[in-house]
Amino acid sequence: MNLSCTAAVLGFILGTIVGSFLNVCIYRLPREESVIFPGSHCPKCNSPIRWYDNIPIISYLLLKGKCRYCGEKISPVYPIVEFLSGLLTAGIFFRFGISFDSLYYSILTWFLIAISVIDIKELMVPVKPCYIIMVLGMVLSPFTHTVSLIDSILGASLGAGIILFIIESYFIFRDKEGMGYGDANIMAAIGSFLGWKKVFFVIFFASLIGAIIGIIFIISGDKDNESPLPFGPFLAIGAYLTIFLGDLLLKFYLGG
Ligand SMILES: [Zn+2]
Repeated sequence: MNLSCTAAVLGFILGTIVGSFLNVCIYRLPREESVIFPGSHCPKCNSPIRWYDNIPIISYLLLKGKCRYCGEKISPVYPIVEFLSGLLTAGIFFRFGISFDSLYYSILTWFLIAISVIDIKELMVPVKPCYIIMVLGMVLSPFTHTVSLIDSILGASLGAGIILFIIESYFIFRDKEGMGYGDANIMAAIGSFLGWKKVFFVIFFASLIGAIIGIIFIISGDKDNESPLPFGPFLAIGAYLTIFLGDLLLKFYLGG
């Protein structure tokens, strides 16, 4: 097995373990509960979940999606989040190897998974995690190969600024809400991690994917164009694509 594949396998295992923690965050952050205490427990019978019932993906399959004690159905979202986190983290480790950069981009990816699922489920974006990740990006960026501290600070400002500009423009010209302030907070965190130049790619990808999905919804008649789609997941997909394509696109635009 070559080095990239070894890194990808390690990334997958790390990603599923973190994914298990992301599930706790997804459940508790919108309720403003601590993500550390108390330990995981069944929401129905309150039995604490033992370590052997908390192994990412595997425990869900062994328990056939039910609580060991009361038989309450466990949402398939849990193993899906763990698998998705494993897969996306594996991609990053495959690309950047066993390095600080891999960990750096993984942290952003984990945040984006949690915030996207919260945005879809609750139609809201908690502020605190966005703020923590934005600051973390500024603290960690000087240790990466591609993002400097100045890049990071400008990225957070520009990212949030562009979304706020879009929100205010919508208010002025159409007298309604296009995007939410939560999207500005998400974009501040993304900009902080990726630097100001890549903010444009993230918003471009997000708008493109958002437009395609929006058109599909309208054609299929599932949603009329008055009901808002949560935009956070599109920003997340845009950011993940930019992690891989950003440097290539920058070279292309700067004529390198
Ligand atoms: Zn139970």
